[in-house]
Amino acid sequence: MYLNIALPNFTNKLLTYQTKDASYDYLGYRVVVPFGKKQIVGIVISQHSTCSIDKSKIKKIIKPLGTSPLLPPEHITFLKKLADYYQVSMNTLVLKSLPPGIISEDVHCNDDFYETALSGHTPAMRKILETIEKPAALYVLMASFRQDMIKKLIYEGCLIKSEAKERLQYKPALSQLNTHQTNALEYLRNAPSLVRLLWGITGSGKTEIYAHLIHDCIKQQKQVLLLVPEISLTPQILLKITERIGIKPITIHSHLSTKQRIAHTLQARYGHAHIIIGTRSALLAPIHNLGLIIVDEEHSDAFRQDAPFFYSAKDAAIIRSALLNIPIVLGSATPSLETIHNVHNEKYNCFKLLSRFHAKSPNIHILPIEKNTIISKQLIPIVNEALNKNQHVMLYIGKRGYARVSSCHHCGFQLRCSGCERLMVKHTDGLMHCHHCEIKEKQPIDCPQCHQAELSHFGAGSQQIAEVATQHWPNHPVVRIDTDSMNTLNAAKALKTLEQSPATIIVGTQMLTKGHDIHRLNTVIVINADHGLYAPDFRSEEKLFAEITQVAGRSGRRDIIGDVYIQTMQPNHHLYMNITNPEAFYQHLFERRKTFLLPPYVHLACLFIVGKKQHLKKINQIIIPKINHTEITGPLFFPPGIKQGKECYKIMITSHCRITRDQAIKYIEAICIGKLPKYVQLLKQIDSHLSP
Ligand code: ADP
Ligand code: ZN
Repeated sequence: MYLNIALPNFTNKLLTYQTKDASYDYLGYRVVVPFGKKQIVGIVISQHSTCSIDKSKIKKIIKPLGTSPLLPPEHITFLKKLADYYQVSMNTLVLKSLPPGIISEDVHCNDDFYETALSGHTPAMRKILETIEKPAALYVLMASFRQDMIKKLIYEGCLIKSEAKERLQYKPALSQLNTHQTNALEYLRNAPSLVRLLWGITGSGKTEIYAHLIHDCIKQQKQVLLLVPEISLTPQILLKITERIGIKPITIHSHLSTKQRIAHTLQARYGHAHIIIGTRSALLAPIHNLGLIIVDEEHSDAFRQDAPFFYSAKDAAIIRSALLNIPIVLGSATPSLETIHNVHNEKYNCFKLLSRFHAKSPNIHILPIEKNTIISKQLIPIVNEALNKNQHVMLYIGKRGYARVSSCHHCGFQLRCSGCERLMVKHTDGLMHCHHCEIKEKQPIDCPQCHQAELSHFGAGSQQIAEVATQHWPNHPVVRIDTDSMNTLNAAKALKTLEQSPATIIVGTQMLTKGHDIHRLNTVIVINADHGLYAPDFRSEEKLFAEITQVAGRSGRRDIIGDVYIQTMQPNHHLYMNITNPEAFYQHLFERRKTFLLPPYVHLACLFIVGKKQHLKKINQIIIPKINHTEITGPLFFPPGIKQGKECYKIMITSHCRITRDQAIKYIEAICIGKLPKYVQLLKQIDSHLSP
């Protein structure tokens, strides 16, 4: 038998070895092979009974590791399908989809090895849960079992307070759904298509419905994968699912230590974790017996990965569900246009949940403002009143930093990044930052071009908003939540502590938009979101709509109706006019996309050519011939893709036929490789067109 093996540190090519025994099946196994004078471990990606290479030159493997494949055959089929769809080499995909270090002799992957880790609990912890039948007082539990374990189970939400006060019990409790939710659940359980969209406004109780679906799946002895766009959302959803189901999910994301990632991957692979919650990389994990995939906030761009290869975890999840013939539930308050299009085409099924579980939806007010207004005068008494009622107030600004533009009124000079030509952003640390290249430079005081005047700064970012808020409301704490001030996990913690804090002004950026439940927040002010109307991306309006809807969803989540004030200089823009009428807004977008032949009406792919100027001299010699049934533009100079001094050109391909598009991009890539020096990078994006 001949084996094609992916070897770490050798990512560009599969190597062929042979087995000692002709009949043996090693697909997906990790195997030790001779490599030069060394022995290394690789993973078998395919096997064949014949081989075109001279047999005498093919080395034999030394031994397989473990008693079962790390990647089961259906997982290899899935990865092959992805490699094919995204035009990535199979060995890159396989090696990068696994935690580093798992392909090693030190890691044991056998069916029985990780049994002890059942459902994220040690056997001793499971024993505690199984023993506690009746509610018991804490001191009784503490006396009977190890205290650290009891504490851990309480912390995880597995042991909860029973109705009888001061007693704890293990009683996972799915919530009683209201009529709308029950209808949604029934629909999602039985819809004819495998892909099921839950279009539910913020606070409609989607997560509670997911819990019921997860419970169904576990009862059938199958595993569930729940994807969320950001790591910061995992603690909240993890706690809720643990409370509802009584089993602690495992997580897979990039903040885990290598050891944890390996352990969790093995638990998923060998079926010892019932529920796997993770960010996009979790989608590539081998899972023993997957029965359901849920993608929360399905519209989010965070499911897209650029490096080391491009893919969309949401689309890949749909591919995985189709191959395994298992349902996939996509949840969102603002589904992507592609998803809605597939609902219209009846490829996906959709259930709409349009009322909030607790409160009514907030009132949305569009507030015209003049240029350079930060907070409209009208809003000051409204904020005062909310703060006096001991409520928090959110000031939302899409941009971080202090000022977005630094320019000279004398000569018109604007301070731009040396690496990418974008505007440098003034920060309160005394430096000018490029948010694209991460370049930081000292702030010049005078204009570096004419030296006749001091630079002026415009376009407020979150730091300036926080400063203005402190000036207006000096007696109230102001917390700024953006990636400069904290990482996503700390942001979740900071929001949690707000439950106990005095009335606070929360200033924040996109980090605040998703999923976080903030108590006592009934007033949300969107400072100015107009910049999103003019971005060069054809999806920018769709994204801005989602962003504002998400932010608005933060307001009034309990028994009070919230108020959302959107400040804009374009009050008559169709986006704002339809802010409470997504159907009308989407209809407008569909019409435009149809007119301009853009997705979802065509299949799109892009090739980005990135390199130093001196290596791109021959770019003009790249002439792409006409290809039937495709529209090709480029290579065109693409300023948004310029980064750290490297230039970027873009070739965009659209076609009504996916196969034609895929062939065209391969063909164009081959032309580019032939014309350009090898230092130049070619980056492919399938179904996407954003700067790499
Ligand atoms: P979404 O995910 O759609 O934004 P959530 O599932 O977070 O909404 O629900 C919003 C709030 O309503 C949460 O506090 C949640 O616990 C509560 N909730 C939703 N459905 C129920 C239910 N059936 N019983 C009790 N509380 C519920
Ligand atoms: Zn830059």
